[in-house]
Amino acid sequence: MSELPGIVVTGASGRMGQMLIRIIRESDRARLVGAIERSGHEWVGQDVGRAMGGADCGVIVTDEPLEAFAKAQAVIDFTAPEATLEFAKLAAQARAVHVIGTTGMSDEQIAKLEPAARHAPIVRAGNMSLGVNLLTQLTRQVAAALGEEFDIEVIEAHHRHKVDAPSGTALMLGEAAAEGRGVALEDVSDRGRDGITGARKPGDIGFVAVRGGDIVGEHDVLFAGEGERIILRHVATDRAIFARGALRAALWGQDKGPGQYDMIDVLGLRR
Ligand code: NAD
Repeated sequence: MSELPGIVVTGASGRMGQMLIRIIRESDRARLVGAIERSGHEWVGQDVGRAMGGADCGVIVTDEPLEAFAKAQAVIDFTAPEATLEFAKLAAQARAVHVIGTTGMSDEQIAKLEPAARHAPIVRAGNMSLGVNLLTQLTRQVAAALGEEFDIEVIEAHHRHKVDAPSGTALMLGEAAAEGRGVALEDVSDRGRDGITGARKPGDIGFVAVRGGDIVGEHDVLFAGEGERIILRHVATDRAIFARGALRAALWGQDKGPGQYDMIDVLGLRR
């Protein structure tokens, strides 16, 4: 047991943090060695301790990350941009793989990860799902192969509470399609039409957003040609896919050198 990589989860009381704790504890490929929350957070030492099975379970529950990081081989971090920058420094000090799921980092903040990446591997992705990252790569390849004769529509569906449209993942797919075609997305798309479909110019990459009920997240990439259509589809039914992808990234990073990586590297699809 003790040779399994030790993992620390930051933001342990958050939605993703709790999911990660469950998935790591169920895994036979990794050990949970620490759970980090903000100082003064009421969850620390209460629910975490309970979830870990009591005080002598060997898991450090703390608001002092370095103590826990020093005992870990990887840190999985779904928190907030400023916290993630701080964790990057500490993970580098501990020479632990830093898996970053935190979104909303500015270009300036992303640039600040570089010094940490000189000491240990960082794997960062706005969507940690293996399926979505594979879909992105397939979209790029299919768009490159088919060229401008096929129109492309990215059709996404989410629950009624989602405010942004199209989703970040839909935009990522649109970017991949544009890259495959060798064009810039802003030149071939007016981005969100909020589900209102209008006429398209040949070669356009269009977006359609559907909102309703409790849909977790669905993305279709439709390639529509004359007399034939191809549809690539990803359906998410559980947010656990992000946690499973992050754990896979943490394990993948164990024998990697310092540097910045993403899920395309983890999937072995980097060319
Ligand atoms: P959440 O608000 O439920 O959880 C975030 C947790 O981080 C909170 O418990 C908060 O107290 C904690 N936190 C904040 N600063 C901290 C600090 N300095 N030290 C320790 N803990 C700190 O949010 P969530 O839904 O779990 O999402 C977290 C992040 O992950 C967001 O940026 C979200 O967009 C992103 N996310 C990414 C993916 C992906 O696949 N990459 C998937 C889902 C969510």
